[in-house]
Amino acid sequence: MTAVRHYCRVALPVPVDTPFDYHWPGPDSPRPGTRVLAPFGARRLVGMVVGSGAPEIDPARIKPLARVLDAEPLFKPAQLALARWCAQYYHHPLGEVIAAMLPAALRRAQAALDRGPRYWQLTAAGAALGSNDLARAPRQAEVLRLLADGAVATAELRSAGIAAAVLGRMRDKALIEPAAAPRGDAKPGPALLAAQAAAVDAIGARLGAFAAFLLDGVTGSGKTEIYLHVIERVLEARRQALVIVPEIGLTPQLSRRFKRRLTGRVVVLHSNLGAGARARAWQAAAAGEVDVVVGTRSAVFTPLARPGLIVVDEEHDLSLKQQDGLRYSARDVAVQRASMLALPVVLGSATPSLESLNNALGGRYHHLRLAARAGAARLPRVELIDQRGHQPPSGLSAPLLGALDEHLKRGEQALIFLNRRGFAPVLMCSACGWYGECSRCDARLTLHLSARLLRCHHCGHEERPPARCPACNSSRLDPLGSGTERLEQALIRACAPHPVLRVDRDATRRRAAFEQILEQVRSGRPCVLVGTQMLAKGHDYPNVTLVGVVNIDQALFSSDFRSTERSAQLLVQVAGRAGRGAKPGRVLVQTRHPEHPLFTRVLATGYGPFARELLRERRAAAYPPFGHLVLVRAEAVKREAAGEFLTAAAAAAGPPDDSVQLFGPMPSPMEKRAGRYRLQLLLASNSRRALHRLLDRWVPRLYQLTQARRVRWSVDVDPQDMF
Ligand code: ADP
Ligand code: ZN
Ligand code: ZN
Repeated sequence: MTAVRHYCRVALPVPVDTPFDYHWPGPDSPRPGTRVLAPFGARRLVGMVVGSGAPEIDPARIKPLARVLDAEPLFKPAQLALARWCAQYYHHPLGEVIAAMLPAALRRAQAALDRGPRYWQLTAAGAALGSNDLARAPRQAEVLRLLADGAVATAELRSAGIAAAVLGRMRDKALIEPAAAPRGDAKPGPALLAAQAAAVDAIGARLGAFAAFLLDGVTGSGKTEIYLHVIERVLEARRQALVIVPEIGLTPQLSRRFKRRLTGRVVVLHSNLGAGARARAWQAAAAGEVDVVVGTRSAVFTPLARPGLIVVDEEHDLSLKQQDGLRYSARDVAVQRASMLALPVVLGSATPSLESLNNALGGRYHHLRLAARAGAARLPRVELIDQRGHQPPSGLSAPLLGALDEHLKRGEQALIFLNRRGFAPVLMCSACGWYGECSRCDARLTLHLSARLLRCHHCGHEERPPARCPACNSSRLDPLGSGTERLEQALIRACAPHPVLRVDRDATRRRAAFEQILEQVRSGRPCVLVGTQMLAKGHDYPNVTLVGVVNIDQALFSSDFRSTERSAQLLVQVAGRAGRGAKPGRVLVQTRHPEHPLFTRVLATGYGPFARELLRERRAAAYPPFGHLVLVRAEAVKREAAGEFLTAAAAAAGPPDDSVQLFGPMPSPMEKRAGRYRLQLLLASNSRRALHRLLDRWVPRLYQLTQARRVRWSVDVDPQDMF
C-alpha cells in the first residue's frame, strides 16, 4: 500500500512571490501556520504551511517535506492573516514576511520549541543560603542574587549571562524552582487630571471594537499615565496589551514604570535580549501567559492569545519604520492589526507625524489632546542664541556656558544635544584642503579620537587616521566641526568637577554602560548629559532643568521633503526634556539662522499649528500624506547593472497611466554606499488604490526580469527616507 500524500503549499523565505508545493508522507497533513523543513535546491529551508489541496504542477515532481517542526500550528489564523496583509500591502514575498514576523530562534530548524520553565524563583533552601555558601560557584551565586527579590524570567537570566546548565544544576540541588510569571507591583499612580481622565474614558469606552486614537499631548502631559490606566482596564477584562516604543533608550525606564504600576504580568522585548529569550517571551505572549508586552518595532508582530489593546508610543519616530527587508511601519501595522482584531489602538506623541495628524483632522482617528503638562511641571522657556559671527572653538557659546554654570551651581542637571557622533565630522588638511573620504561611499569619514579611527557612519568602514596628508604630505591635519566626543571634552573642562555623561551609540554599546549612566541621572545629583537623539526620546528626569541644542543647523537645509517636519519634532522633543519636574526648565538653541521659519514659527506657535501649516504645504505639493509614494531601489557593484534593471522595470510597468506617475531611474541621494551604486524609481499617485493596483500587476514581473539577477532590489511602500 502506498502512503497517503498530503499536499501543502509552503511559504519559504526566498525572494519569490509565490508559495511552493510539497507533500508530507506522514499520517496527518500539517495545518496552515505550521513550520516545516523543506528541501529547496541543494538547501533545506524553514518555511510555513500556508495552504493545502491539489498542487498546480505535476504531482510526480513534488518533493516531500523533510520534517514538520511544530506539533501545533505556530501561527494562528489571525497571525497568518496579518502576514498576508503585510505581503500584499508591502509587496513583499509571503515567506519573507513570515520570517520577519518570527523571532530569530524560530527561523531556525529547531524541531520543538523550548518548553522549559519561563520563570524561576528560589526554593526555601535557596533563600536560606548566605552569599558565601556558593563562593566556589560564582554563576550560581549570581542566580541567588538575581532571584533575591522574587521570580525572574528565564529570558532575563539568560541575557544576564546565566547558562541553561547553571539553572539545571541549581534545580537539581533544589535551590531554585519554576515559577509563575510575577505580577506587577500595582503601586498607585497620581490622581488623573480631568483631561487625562477624559482620554482614559474615551479609549476605555471602545474596548472590544476597532477605534484609532491619536493621543496628541505635549511632552510631559501624562500620556504614559493614560496608557497605564487604559491597560489596567484591559487587564480587568482579562485581555492583553501590546505597547510599542522606539529603540532601546526608552525601554529600561519605561518597563520599570510598567512593572511597578500594573497588576498584570509584563514582559519586555528589548533589543539586547538573546535569541532564546526573545523566542520564549514571544511564546509566553502567544500562550497568554503574560498580560502586557512592551517592545520595539518588531514586537508589533508578537502573537497575542487574548488581544485587547495596542499602544504605539512616540508614533512619529523614524525607528518605527524598518529600513531593509520587509520595510514595514510598525505604526501602520499596529493600526491594521487593531482593525483586523477589532481592538482600539492608541498612537501617542507630543509631535504627531503629519500622516497621523491628517487622519485625526480628517476624523478617521479620534483626536485626544492634552495641552498642559501634568503635575507641577510647566513647559520650558525656549531662547535662541544668535551664533552669526561667533564661532566659539569649543562649540559652546558664552550664554550657554553661563547657563550651565548657573544650573549646576543650583544643584540641577543639564542636557546638551548634538546629533553627531564622534570627535569631528571631517579631518581636513589645512595646507591643500584634502579631507578623509570613505572609499566605498559618497561620504566623509568621521574622526573618532578615543578609538583613534576614521569611521564611515554609512558602511562601517574604519581606517587609522593618517599622520600626514596623503595628498601633499603636510602634517597640518585638523579636525573640523564637533561631534559628541569633542563636545564632551569641552564640557568636562567647562563643568568640572561635575560629571559629564555621554550618551550615543559609541558610549552605550554595552547595555550595562547605558544603565549606569541613566542610574547616575536618576540619582538627581548635578551632572551634564551630552548626546545624540538617543537623548531626545522619552526620558523623564525631573532634575534636568537646562537643555542646550548646540547645532541643529545642518538639518535646516536638507533636500528631503520631510526634513522640516523631522527637525521640528526633534527640536520640540529635545526641548521637552527640560523642566519635567517641579522646577522650571530653560532651553537654549544655538543657531546661525535665527530667522529660519523652523525657529520663528515653531517657537511662536508651538508644534500643532506649525504642523498644520506643513500639512497645507504638503497638500499643495501632493506629497504624503496627500500623495502616496513607492520607491523601487536597486544597487549593484556596477552602476550599469542597477540602471539596466530599473530601465527594464520601468518598461515593465506598461504604458503610462494618468493615475500613477513614474520618475527615474535616477541616482539615490547617496549614490554610492558600501561599494555599491544605488539608483531608484519613484512612483507617486494621489490614489493609494491606483498605486497598489499597479504594484499588484507590476511587482511579480520584476522577479521575472533577467536583469534582476545582477542587482539587489527592493520595493519600499510609504518610504520614510529617500536615501
Ligand atoms: P508623557 O508620557 O506625556 O511624557 P508622563 O506620563 O511620563 O508624560 O508624565 C510626565 C510626568 O508627570 C511624570 O513624572 C508623571 O509621573 C507625572 N504625572 C503624570 N500625570 C500626573 C498627574 N495626573 N498628576 C501628577 N503628576 C502626573
Ligand atoms: Zn594636504
Ligand atoms: Zn562608507
